[in-house]
Amino acid sequence: MAAGTHYLPGLTPTNEPSVQTSDDAAGFYELGEKLVDAKAPTGPIEERWTTRKFENRLVNPANRRKLDIIIVGTGLAGGAAAATLGEAGYNVKSFCYQDSPRRAHSIAAQGGINAAKNYKEDGDSTYRLFYDTVKGGDYRSRESNVYRLASESANIIDQCVAQGVPFARDYGGLLDNRSFGGVQVSRTFYARGQTGQQLLLGAYQAMERQVAAGTVEAFTRHEMLELIVVDGKARGIVARDMVTGEIETHLADVVVLASGGYGNVFYLSTNAMGSNVTAAWRAHRKGAYMANPCYTQIHPTCIPVTGAHQSKLTLMSESLRNDGRIWVPKKVEDCEKDPREIPEDERDYFLERIYPSFGNLVPRDIASRAAKYMCDEGRGVGPEIEELQPDGTTKKVRRGVYLDFKDAIERLGKHGVEEKYDNLLDMYERITGENPYEVPMRIYPAVHYVMGGLWVDYELQSNIEGLFVTGEANFSDHGANRLGASALMQGLADGYFVLPNTIREYLADGPFEKVDESNPAVVEALASVKERVAKFLSINGTRSVESYHKELGSIMWEYCGMERTEEGLKLAIQKIRDLRADFWTNVKVLGSADNINQDLEKAGRVADFLELGELMCIDALNRRESCGGHFRAESQTEDGEALRHDEEFAYVAAWEWGGDSNDGGQPVLHKEDLIYTAIEMKQRSYK
Ligand SMILES: Cc1cc2nc3c(=O)[nH]c(=O)nc-3n(C[C@H](O)[C@H](O)[C@H](O)COP(=O)(O)OP(=O)(O)OC[C@H]3O[C@@H](n4cnc5c(N)ncnc54)[C@H](O)[C@@H]3O)c2cc1C
Repeated sequence: MAAGTHYLPGLTPTNEPSVQTSDDAAGFYELGEKLVDAKAPTGPIEERWTTRKFENRLVNPANRRKLDIIIVGTGLAGGAAAATLGEAGYNVKSFCYQDSPRRAHSIAAQGGINAAKNYKEDGDSTYRLFYDTVKGGDYRSRESNVYRLASESANIIDQCVAQGVPFARDYGGLLDNRSFGGVQVSRTFYARGQTGQQLLLGAYQAMERQVAAGTVEAFTRHEMLELIVVDGKARGIVARDMVTGEIETHLADVVVLASGGYGNVFYLSTNAMGSNVTAAWRAHRKGAYMANPCYTQIHPTCIPVTGAHQSKLTLMSESLRNDGRIWVPKKVEDCEKDPREIPEDERDYFLERIYPSFGNLVPRDIASRAAKYMCDEGRGVGPEIEELQPDGTTKKVRRGVYLDFKDAIERLGKHGVEEKYDNLLDMYERITGENPYEVPMRIYPAVHYVMGGLWVDYELQSNIEGLFVTGEANFSDHGANRLGASALMQGLADGYFVLPNTIREYLADGPFEKVDESNPAVVEALASVKERVAKFLSINGTRSVESYHKELGSIMWEYCGMERTEEGLKLAIQKIRDLRADFWTNVKVLGSADNINQDLEKAGRVADFLELGELMCIDALNRRESCGGHFRAESQTEDGEALRHDEEFAYVAAWEWGGDSNDGGQPVLHKEDLIYTAIEMKQRSYK
């Protein structure tokens, strides 16, 4: 084990560093130096975080007042961080593009938040949450980070209860739990189907308290359009006031990005319409590595696409899989029938059949692929939709499977089901016009979350000094597949407990030399944003921004969606390059720069998606293995399950910006070995 040991002195690794022999992406990238997380902790896994918290230096209260922190994002990750760092006495400037911090996308989260409290006495523990998360992520996450997440999980619940978050309680008044996919214990805390909303209100009120106290200054309707890097350190941002159009610089000692995920690169997703990659991508272009960008989570229970008119998809929370049963007709000819007329023995409860131990609660990647295969076989239900085929032709396919509450209603009564899920089932009825208490719901997988994001070390610091990244915007904890109810856990762990303990080690070197507006790096960043805005408005072509986004989304879904192939990904890269070249010569951005202009806002976001999409395809092309949400058709077991190749790919792929490929640039790949000491990598099985 010679090669891996220097990363974790004193520990016995359970795997060797991988050696990649395949090279599907040859010609599309350059290979850079290996990457080592210099901040990775050592020692027994249970002690690593406690030791680190103690060893990291403190900043005395008088010095905190002299230190300025910019936080971009007011979702759970950013809101919690602003509240905590404000409370600690730092000067925080908080940014979001919505009109209120409490409208961040986190508010949409429905199903729940995990914590290893073991209230049900069903065998849960910190170690089990850690183990389930590493296994659920298909052994592509860092074990130290995941253990830390599991160990902070219980604190989050205590913190939120103290804030007054109205978690569901059982008859006796104790906090209730339910199960989510990929686990066999009940550890998910919830507030009906509005968990994100209630948690965000908790973080928001804590942040607003600091606004009132003067430690946090909130900038709403401000969009970060550039990162300011001075002498290799992140020292500020350029933001556009979305109401007046003014382009401003904001300077600080440290910058935190908590800007959420980029699932909207697929155009259709369950994300909020405004979710985008711009903050992270601008930092990437300034040198921050983007890690595992191809790891996308496709959620199995969303309301199916009904036609080309749609711009948004709606999630039906995974919690519904606790009581709903998923099935398709056994016979193709039954697919058009009213489902209530199909007798029990003519129904195929395919997840229960294929995965008897986890049944309907298999992880999302597995449930999604199984639903796809049923529809590919012709056993999908619902209206037929036209679907683009890889050869450019179209085909009519039914893309839906049933999620049925009949048995649950018999067992719990209609009232029992209503108590747990009424707002979700009402939402379904409002959107589809069908009553799910009477007719089985129809669901289909949709893009939902991204595990990829900016690379960070154990301290949540990117490879740019002074740039920290938290929540969905970083890549850190979920490997190749996130388990349900773990994103809220990560966002709040990062914001309330991890970042406040790691950022102080960096800030302990302060007070720092002040940077002012005349610094050449500040002047350059400001000028580049103004130039870019002017460029969008000057092209004056013939195609709408929206049409480019839609076309990019269909390329991404077709070739970099639920199933990926070498041939398809190569085709996608070329299509994206052509589309991007067309965008920069033929896009038409309406309106002007000096007032509210949603077309202009969208142009910037789509321009960044057009670069990100290509990198996602290159990352997916390079990774000739299937793991978690990344399924390469060339790498599957005999029964169609994801087949990993640990000997080649047990690494984090951290990509460095190498310039626009349309100008001859190529991304540079840095590999960070994933070495385990507390866990052994195994082929996942949920059967
Ligand atoms: C429909 C749905 C349901 C979900 N349900 C669950 C669930 O039940 N349990 C669970 O664990 N997870 C769930 N998730 C996932 C979870 O909601 C997200 O991963 C999580 O909320 C992300 O939080 P965040 O703080 O990282 O980012 P977000 O909440 O997305 O916040 C991003 C913030 O960054 C700001 N921002 C972004 N870019 C810029 C910019 N350029 N300039 C200025 N500000 C910017 C935004 O204004 C916003 O304030 C769900 C996701 C969806 C889509």
